[in-house]
Amino acid sequence: MAQYDYDLFVIGGGSGGVRAARLAGGMGKRVAVAEEYRYGGTCVIRGCVPKKLFVYASQFSEHFEDSAGFGWTVGETSFDWSVLIENKDREIDRLEKAYRSGLDGANVTIIDARAELADRHTINLSTGETVTAERILIAVGGKPRLHDSLPGGEHCISSNEAFHLNSLPKSILIEGGGYIAVEFANIFHGLGVDTTLLYRGPEILKNFDIDMRHGLVEAMQAKGINIVLNETMTKIDKRGDGQLEVKFTGGTSVIVGEVMLAIGRVANTQGLGLDNAGVEMSKSGAITVDEFSRTNIDNIWAIGDVTDRVQLTPVAIHEAICFIETVFKDNPTKPDHETVATAVFSQPEIGTVGLSEDDASKVYDALEIYRASFRPMRHTLSGRQEKMIMKLVVDAKSRVVVGAHVLGPDAGEMAQVLGVALKARLTKDAFDQTMALHPSAAEELVTMYQPTYRISKGERVGG
Ligand code: FAD
Repeated sequence: MAQYDYDLFVIGGGSGGVRAARLAGGMGKRVAVAEEYRYGGTCVIRGCVPKKLFVYASQFSEHFEDSAGFGWTVGETSFDWSVLIENKDREIDRLEKAYRSGLDGANVTIIDARAELADRHTINLSTGETVTAERILIAVGGKPRLHDSLPGGEHCISSNEAFHLNSLPKSILIEGGGYIAVEFANIFHGLGVDTTLLYRGPEILKNFDIDMRHGLVEAMQAKGINIVLNETMTKIDKRGDGQLEVKFTGGTSVIVGEVMLAIGRVANTQGLGLDNAGVEMSKSGAITVDEFSRTNIDNIWAIGDVTDRVQLTPVAIHEAICFIETVFKDNPTKPDHETVATAVFSQPEIGTVGLSEDDASKVYDALEIYRASFRPMRHTLSGRQEKMIMKLVVDAKSRVVVGAHVLGPDAGEMAQVLGVALKARLTKDAFDQTMALHPSAAEELVTMYQPTYRISKGERVGG
């Protein structure tokens, strides 16, 4: 008789947990996964997927406007939030079922319960049952950070609630400077909501390339999104009419229908029983792992957002695959967190891979910067003034392209393909030798033959 109930017990049925459980189940291992909310996790239920559906919804207002220059007359338009929510919920239900059937097909035991560690091999379930496992994989993800010390903070929503609002507010204030705050500001604005983005620092998207940041802020302001920098909220009062009055550090205030916090995410490690098993955490509450995703307890592993490495769905899935290779296939594999392509689904969109100009200038002595800023063809007839920006950051010595950044329509799609070129460490010469695809916006990426300027030991030269 086996010593444990399971070979592998996975806590958390999100991107990372489901992939690991399915792969191990497919190998004939005895696997169970516990999920306390809904299978698919943050990405499917209240992250990437519903967000992208909202992004699509929010883009129609500009499409309607732009169509006039191409000869179209669009009749009176109106937007029904409840239709969007209903259709989005139907799609999410479909995806959740697909996740469940994928697990089922791999003979994984699906447990709808919260799981907590009782010791290094024992898990207590919220159903009252206790199970044991030889190995445990923690993939519990994270949740939105709240603003506990803010008077009136209980009136704020987070991205979780934004997906289920009963009605669309007339106005919203979003606090945060990361991609989630920026994306939601664009979503709400596109849906016709009077939108303010509030950030305590001097610049939003601080880890992105400077041209992407500046270009996006300019475009967002031009379309009417109010961006307030170097300010925070000091108090929120709910008024008799249900509106929220928000006071700022600078002494000013605004009245809005909703306040959304997008001020970061915290690991879901509270009440997980990590102490019972002796699993170590960082100061921020994330689980500490080695380069193979193993915790300090040798039969317990952790992947995905809970480890606070690179918090993206494909990264959680990649870490799951590496975990399976390492643990069940006798092929120790470290997750590779270098050169990860990513996007900000703002309007215009940012697509980026590799190092920003600032980060590259800390690593390389000499850089060549190739930069183009132009009005894309589709905006010549639409009349929209929005600029597209493309930028390649090249190590002058090796000629390797170490960063590629695009602001404009379909930038995310371009970043995925640029990711292959950067991962392969292709040189600028390979870009130059590549024939342009005409007419496209992306052709600019292979026709920037002369550097716009150079950077030598961190200082800009010429251009
Ligand atoms: P999760 O997907 O969060 O899954 C963890 C699961 O564990 C959850 O379902 C949770 O309910 C469950 N759980 C927690 N504690 C327990 C417990 N004790 N017992 C049982 N179950 C438990 N990434 C991208 O790549 N692209 C994007 O465009 C993108 N957009 C995003 C937009 C938003 C608004 C948010 C919030 C995130 C977005 N992300 C995006 C990030 C992405 O969703 C996460 O990186 C990814 O979901 C992490 O996967 P995970 O497996 O680590 O955790």
